Formats: sequence, structure tokens, C-alpha cells
Amino acid sequence: MNTINTDKPVLVTGATGYVAGRLIERLLKEGITVHAAVRNPDNKEKTKYLDALAEQLSGKINYFKADLLTEGSYDDAMNGCELVFHTASPFILNVKDPQKDLVDPAKKGTRNVLESANRTESVKRVVVTSSCAAIYGDSIDTLDMPNQELTEETWNTTSSLEHQPYSYSKTEAEKEAWKIAKEQDRWTLVTINPSFVLGPGINPHGTSESYAIVKQMGKGDFKMGAPDMSIGCVDVRDLAEAHYQAGIRPEAKGRYIISGENASFQKLAIYVKNKFPAYPISKGKIPKWLIWLIAPTVGMTRKMVSKNVGYPWKANNSKGVQELGMKYRPLEETITEFFAQLVEAGEIKKR
Ligand code: NAP
Repeated sequence: MNTINTDKPVLVTGATGYVAGRLIERLLKEGITVHAAVRNPDNKEKTKYLDALAEQLSGKINYFKADLLTEGSYDDAMNGCELVFHTASPFILNVKDPQKDLVDPAKKGTRNVLESANRTESVKRVVVTSSCAAIYGDSIDTLDMPNQELTEETWNTTSSLEHQPYSYSKTEAEKEAWKIAKEQDRWTLVTINPSFVLGPGINPHGTSESYAIVKQMGKGDFKMGAPDMSIGCVDVRDLAEAHYQAGIRPEAKGRYIISGENASFQKLAIYVKNKFPAYPISKGKIPKWLIWLIAPTVGMTRKMVSKNVGYPWKANNSKGVQELGMKYRPLEETITEFFAQLVEAGEIKKR
């Protein structure tokens, strides 16, 4: 088993993203030099949050320009690294062209990063940020799973370019990662498969879809009730810890479901309403027939509603607890701190 020398630089792709921000903070706390691969290192609006962390913490950041769709783009950034975190991948739910906007950057991007790892002799471990979306497509799928719960053994077989294209992009990308990893034996691959990520990011103006749901709650989209949808949630800071542990523990192996609480949109709404009573949020549920009816007006397809509303969602997170030492913050703390951050930043109107 290979031990990682943390005196060597560590690469993080998609460094200006939501998940990457907290991961880089974790690495900087360890005094690590981070090679931050970003699309545009001159965009100070995006890099300023990372720069502020580097000023306070003992590690340092060097930026590299890289794009998922440009072959060889990550070679310079990976030079001299033993550990690579590949977080970059578009997380967008409403896209015009799913092949071009989601699957190409996810799958070709993963291939591109891992081919750089094949060319870079120093690399020993690659951690890819996959998703629970690579494990299941719709909540109804869980009914056919053993104990009706998600485990690392299961793969998403129901998503496609036409239905749940984001989940399809994550599934294709993770499969590509395992295929490339198995063709060599110098570096080991570990994948992190998080459920829905919430909690304050280093950038209060982030553009990840994680921000969208909280902002929707703030502006009143849940005033008639929440859709009866179950989801798993994980705090972005716990997810950063999971990545870090998966990177440095030599024995870490395979896929890890990283999910703190089996929850629901209603549960999120209740937590927020209890702490922020002035906001137009109902603690109730909207009936399935009503969501089915209005689905196209809220960016959902009717197929998504029929296969996700009203079904249970349960993930088994025990592998990460046992092998990565995961401990999870309570969801109530995660969602209310996130809401408060977005109010403070003006992303949600103050009331
Ligand atoms: P995010 O903030 O949108 O981060 C995505 C990152 O990917 C951004 O830094 C973005 O760069 C980069 N990226 C997109 N297209 C790129 C391209 N063509 N070339 C280079 N970089 C590109 O979203 P996130 O929530 O942090 O997602 C990070 C990872 O976590 C993704 O792999 C996502 O699938 C996974 N994940 C997220 C969740 C969640 O609930 N948030 C759950 C499970 C898994 P720019 O900063 O330049 O836009």
C-alpha cells in the first residue's frame, strides 16, 4: 500500500467549485501546497475566496489553467503530485444539450484527467468525486435493491440522455474512471459518492445546484408545501473530510457512499421554518397529483415526478464510517447555517 507524502503538492480539479472549496480549505489546514486547476485563473471574483483561505492557513495555492475538454490540459497541474482530487464536472439540472453540456465534460473530462495520471509518474492515488447519482437513477429504483437501500455494490442503470441526464453523466464518468484505473497498477482509484450536498461553502455566491434549492425555499417556492420527495443529504464540510481521508488513507478502496442523513424536502423545510419563521415556507407536503400537474412549469418532467415523488430513499453509509472514520453533522445545523449564510450574503432576501 502506498503512503502519500503530503510535502508534495496535491492537485484539485474544479478548484473554484462548491465542493472543492471546502476540500482545499481542509488541505490548506494541513499545510499542503494545493495545485488548483481552474478554467480561468484570472477570474479574481471566483479565486478570491481561495486566496483568503491561503492567507489565513498554513498551506499555499498555485493556480493552473485547465479545461476538462482539452486533452493534456491537466499535465502541468499534476506535475509532481502524488495525490489528485478530481472534483470538476458540471452540476446543472436544466441543460439544452445533455451530451455536450453534461456527458462530454463529465466523461471525456474524467478520461482526460486520468490519462494525465497515467503519464505522471509521481501519482499514487486519484480520488474522483462521483455521486449517489451513479448508484441510482430515480427513487423508485431503490424498491428493487436489497433492503431497499443504496450500497456501493449498486449502479444506476435507468438514467439516459433523455431522462435524468445529470445522473447519466455521473454514471458514465465513474464507469470510465474504473475502466482506466483497472488498466494500470501504479495509482489507486477511490470514488466518493455523495448524496445531496448542503451547508455553507467558502463562496456564498456559489453556482452549484446545491444553492438553488435553498434559495428557492427563501423566495417562497415551498409556501404551499414541499414535494413529497426523500433524499439523502451531506454537509459540504463533512464531504471535504471524506475526500481528505480517502486521499491519505492507504487502505481506502473502492467506492464510498458519503451521506449523513436520509431526509426529505419536507424535513429541510421544517428545519428552516423553525429557525426562520418569517419566511414563507410551509411545513406540509404538496400532493403528488399537484406536482405532476405543475411539473413542466418548475423544470421537472412528469416522468421524474412519477418515479421520485412518494418513494422512500435510504442509503447505507457504513463503509465510509468504518473505513474513513466518517462522522456527520446533524442536518438541522447544516441547512440552517447554509440558509443563514445566503441571507447574510444577500442571496436570500432579509425578512
Ligand atoms: P460546482 O460548484 O458547479 O463545481 C463544479 C466545478 O466543475 C466548477 O469548479 C466548474 O468550474 C468545474 N467545471 C465545469 N465544467 C468544466 C470544464 N469544462 N472544464 C473545467 N472545469 C469545469 O458544483 P459542485 O456541487 O461543487 O460539484 C462538484 C462535484 O461534486 C461534481 O463532480 C458533482 O457532480 C459532484 N457532486 C455534487 C453534489 C451536490 O449536491 N453539490 C452531489 C454529488 C456529487 P468553474 O468554477 O470554472 O465553473
